[in-house]
Amino acid sequence: MIIKTECSICEGSLEEIINLGECPPANNFVEKKNQDVESFPLIIDFCQQCYCIQLRHCLSKKELYSFYTYSTPQIDSLAKHYENLLKKLKELNFAQKSQSCIEIGSNNGNLLNFLKPHFNKVLGVDPASNIASIAIENGVETIIDFFSNKVAKKILEKNTKFDVAIARHMFAHNEDPSEMLSAMDKILDESGVFIIENAYAIDTFKNGEFDQIYHEHMFYFSALNINALMNKFNFELIDFEHAPVHGGSGVFICGKKGKHTIQKSVGKILSEEEKYFNDKKIFQNFREKIEATRKQVIELIAKDISSNKIVGAYGAPAKAFTVFSYYGLNHRNISFCVDTTPTKIGKVFPKFNIPIIAEDELADHDYDTLIVNAWNYKEDILKKSSSIFKKGTKLIFIIPNLEIYTVN
Ligand SMILES: [Zn+2]
Repeated sequence: MIIKTECSICEGSLEEIINLGECPPANNFVEKKNQDVESFPLIIDFCQQCYCIQLRHCLSKKELYSFYTYSTPQIDSLAKHYENLLKKLKELNFAQKSQSCIEIGSNNGNLLNFLKPHFNKVLGVDPASNIASIAIENGVETIIDFFSNKVAKKILEKNTKFDVAIARHMFAHNEDPSEMLSAMDKILDESGVFIIENAYAIDTFKNGEFDQIYHEHMFYFSALNINALMNKFNFELIDFEHAPVHGGSGVFICGKKGKHTIQKSVGKILSEEEKYFNDKKIFQNFREKIEATRKQVIELIAKDISSNKIVGAYGAPAKAFTVFSYYGLNHRNISFCVDTTPTKIGKVFPKFNIPIIAEDELADHDYDTLIVNAWNYKEDILKKSSSIFKKGTKLIFIIPNLEIYTVN
């Protein structure tokens, strides 16, 4: 583990903006209750100089990913997002039959499978062998490794440089982005684009999405921050788009310096963000909002339990670790957690001792209330709620605002 004492990007001094207490590393589920797993502080610092928002305690790859279980779900809202990404690429004259595309952190290959017909070649890189092998089985060529200078060199022995590189929701998963950026510089064609998609810091803090804060997320990127980071290397931000996925994501389109026309969206978003960060009210509002919701939810759960109702949770994403930890929930108040990911079912949340069950096991369980952790798939969940949950089930969404639905 590394404890950051200065800004990772500009070495400026840091200011603490949020402390969520200690939590085990997300996505590391255990086989049985009471299995010992170490917890680490979740503290976020802000750099006044370059606006970088970063995690203070950064775990090593080994500490983070030894029992990794995330697999990209196949969901309507993501399919639509992939369509939009493709549309954006076409607008910028990419996704042509003669071009190639590489995805870093390609997970189970869903996006590359979708993009494949629009490129001459697609290639994935992902370190989680259990998940990457799903991509390979589905016909997406994937290198099982962390993307690095060494891997870039290996790739270039067999391939020409790539026209498009994509890194979705993984760029912030690294305490030092410099290795990845120098490898990216090697592998990307001079006129190519590098698309970074990440939870967008303004949404995260404005909406009170405290559960975006977990040990895998070492940075909370804004356009200002990405721009500062890119400028340190051979890149610049050339376009920006806001996407509704994962509670609000930033799509940062970068290219090598001086090779592209910088779109109007860049200047616009940079000045908008400066307003947010200069008075830092966004962080104070964030702290007040999440604390107020926490109190309300704890009260709701306590009330249910005192009237002999059974409370469970729906969704076991990484975010759930932060929710259980910050809210102080465990098997005493949350009886079970439902998830559809085969690698998680049958396992247990460490520390909180909450077992994970499959969706079709729900019918055999008694329950009255469910805390929905996968709030970023709210529309998808509400649409199918009457077919998954018992009539009368209370569904509690905590983010962006506390909302309660009754299944009918
Ligand atoms: Zn800085």
